[in-house]
Amino acid sequence: MILPPLADRFGRTFPYLRLSVTDVCNFRCSYCLPNGWQPTGTERFLTGAEILRLVRAFAGLGTWKIRLTGGEPSVRRDLTEIIRTTAAVPGIRRIALTTNGYRLAERAESWFDAGLQAINVSIDSLDRARFRLITGHDRLVEVLAGVEACRRLGFSAVKINTVLLRGLNGDAVDDFIDFVADRDLSLRFIELMRTRDNADYFADQHLPAHRVIDRLTARGWHPLPRVEGAGPAQEFMHPDSRGRIGIIAPYAKDFCASCNRLRVSARGLLHLCLFGSGGHDLRPLLQDDTQIGALQTTLTNLLTLKRDRHYQAEGDFGTLPSLAATGG
Ligand code: SAM
Repeated sequence: MILPPLADRFGRTFPYLRLSVTDVCNFRCSYCLPNGWQPTGTERFLTGAEILRLVRAFAGLGTWKIRLTGGEPSVRRDLTEIIRTTAAVPGIRRIALTTNGYRLAERAESWFDAGLQAINVSIDSLDRARFRLITGHDRLVEVLAGVEACRRLGFSAVKINTVLLRGLNGDAVDDFIDFVADRDLSLRFIELMRTRDNADYFADQHLPAHRVIDRLTARGWHPLPRVEGAGPAQEFMHPDSRGRIGIIAPYAKDFCASCNRLRVSARGLLHLCLFGSGGHDLRPLLQDDTQIGALQTTLTNLLTLKRDRHYQAEGDFGTLPSLAATGG
């Protein structure tokens, strides 16, 4: 049966699902999990079968792009199998992954062969000591080697995610711009997001995205039109640069107007907004193939609860402790 695509009350549709496969992360990024991931004893992350049912249900409602994320998705032993089965679901046209790049050079080929098309690698500093300071791991050289491996493999997109941090990389924006000049990859500067638990860190390190946009403009970069199904970044190009730069500015006016994505946590909670509350438990409807219709009805109904925008400007930061808990 052909169902109408998922839509909310504001006319937005949702071709894009960000699916977390684990809360566990092996890095300790200062803005996300500064003390490392801490087990609570209640971890029972979605199984491969549950993930497959979920993706089938979404695909039947018009979702065609899946981003696997976490936590750190590569800590899951069955990640390659998850990529393979997800990529084979009818209607799914694009599988992407967000990773910290741990052992990426060794693993990228098996993911590529399984059907992964696009990869985002988080790199917040191109300076080894600072990378270690931010992530807790002296692995910059290894992560960069992983990025090169991905470029050689022929992924349709290789992107670097860089969270802007005033005191840790705010003085190095030009280094990142120069880094992409002779590489066919995209770099995304992500404005630091305020979560429930990072008020002090945010006050200390938040660097508004418009500062970087001003810098790009001053160096002759031009904004590009938005592409269908694209993520939240405003992309910029420069005639002399092989690479592109994207800016994710969650505090910019109208940022939420183009929202086209939903999130499901590794515990099966649907998050209608990164800065919302709680999440809606889909797991009871992921236990059997016969439940897919009921799951689709539930998803369609839940979408009516999605708010027009986040309310951070009004002081509502949601209940999310860190992006690792929902899937960044
Ligand atoms: N472990 C993977 C990784 O490192 O990319 C995937 C999960 S991580 C939560 C996804 C992305 O969210 C990363 O690029 C990370 O830098 C970003 N992130 C985490 N916390 C953030 C925050 N408070 N503001 C902005 N971006 C954040």
